[in-house]
Amino acid sequence: MKQMLMIRFGELSTKGKNKKNFIAILARNIKNALKEFNNLQFNVLYDHIYIILNENECEPIISILQDISGIKGISLVYKIDSDIDLIKQAALKIVQNELGKTFKLNCKRSNKSFPIISDQVVRLVAPYILKNTNLKVDVHNPDIVLSIEIRQEGTYLFTKTFAGAGGYPLGVGGKSLLMLSGGIDSPVAAYLMMKRGVSIECIHFASPPYTQVGVIYKLEDLLDKLNKYQSKIVLHIVPFTKLQEAIYANSNESYAITIMRRMMYRLSEALAKKRNCLAIVNGESIGQVASQTLVSMNTINAVTNMPIIRPLAIFDKTDIIDLARKIDTYEISIRPYEDCCTIFTPKNPKTAPKIEDVEKYEKKFDYQSLIVEALNNIETKIIEKKDEYL
Ligand code: ATP
Ligand code: MG
Repeated sequence: MKQMLMIRFGELSTKGKNKKNFIAILARNIKNALKEFNNLQFNVLYDHIYIILNENECEPIISILQDISGIKGISLVYKIDSDIDLIKQAALKIVQNELGKTFKLNCKRSNKSFPIISDQVVRLVAPYILKNTNLKVDVHNPDIVLSIEIRQEGTYLFTKTFAGAGGYPLGVGGKSLLMLSGGIDSPVAAYLMMKRGVSIECIHFASPPYTQVGVIYKLEDLLDKLNKYQSKIVLHIVPFTKLQEAIYANSNESYAITIMRRMMYRLSEALAKKRNCLAIVNGESIGQVASQTLVSMNTINAVTNMPIIRPLAIFDKTDIIDLARKIDTYEISIRPYEDCCTIFTPKNPKTAPKIEDVEKYEKKFDYQSLIVEALNNIETKIIEKKDEYL
């Protein structure tokens, strides 16, 4: 009996002719995530991916697999040749190693050349278990559920399936540019995007000396957590001080946030195009603050035609916090460092800023050359997964 992990794809199965490509990307992501383990063998088939464990423990591997998007479930399976006597013996051995008093058998036979139909397999295996153990059958609320899957290449038996993250494999959806602040929302937006199969690069607007270098360490720590889902993340740090000072020198204070965010979108669009990112992603949530009312979003969004994805648009803050806790970014996000948004926060920001008014202020200074200057002075860092398993 060979022990291995069977990986199911979930949503992938609906993707028709793209499926091959998806499986190839998922297999690459899995191999990459498990590269620190020695002597694993991978068997990539059309319906499942199998990992032959050899002498490796299954628990740490399953826990890594559970965070890889595109995986629906992982079962610890035993593979044998498709022979009814071998199936009986293997089934007995497996249930004997489980705790419980009652059992149920499920059988699926996708290999139609196997001569015994699945109902009949159950009728042959169950009595064999009943005869050789003290277990009883309970089809409604069994302690042990043993699945028997008879496939082309052999028969798989398993009692345990662990839930995967779902979604699509990272990379199948292309790349996006995530606006990363040091707050709670943007790392969660990043996670949801990655779960949809879209990889990220990050843009951060820094305003030294108003913002401290500590913010950058905080971002690195946040990205280190996100490395669990994307092992290499590029972070672009844009010097934003001059633009921000110009905004405050040339506009009415209550419009400053709107204009500042329009500048952020302009910079993001320019960088996204340069880096082949197909969308801009941020942590905005409708109504959360003045700049995130629908009127504000219209005025801010007007500077770009690029798709702006706001995964948290309709989330309550409490739900966002739950997700931040789940991905382990919450405690880092609440560290008290000033963001460029918080420093210049006006007392009465406009909740319904008009485009005409905003444009009037923007005409007062040459923001275009400040944008070019900021883009020319971007500092880029790469945050990569550390080798924890060596
Ligand atoms: P977060 O939303 O991440 O918790 P926040 O609430 O302080 O942080 P908001 O003012 O709500 O940020 O900004 C909305 C979104 O704009 C953020 O989620 C983030 O995507 C983007 N953003 C804000 N500040 C910055 C910044 N300094 N650099 C890059 N993106 C930023
Ligand atoms: Mg926010």
